[in-house]
Amino acid sequence: MQCFECGGKLKHSVTTLHLQKGGRPIFIENVPVTLCEQCGEEYLSGPVAERVGGLLDKEWQPRITLSVPVFNYKMAV
Ligand SMILES: [Zn+2]
Repeated sequence: MQCFECGGKLKHSVTTLHLQKGGRPIFIENVPVTLCEQCGEEYLSGPVAERVGGLLDKEWQPRITLSVPVFNYKMAV
């Protein structure tokens, strides 16, 4: 299998997804993806995307909760 973007070689990897749950930003670690070794494009398989969607609908306890800084582009120095 080759990358749809650049034709590069794909390998199995894991990533951290940045999503929204109940209007709040969340991260999900260790999500299996197929990664292009050349351009870095990540592909989520159908079953994994479905499972992630299903997990978002459940009461799911986070491993840790972070407070994150939010920047405003218009207030840049
Ligand atoms: Zn690629």
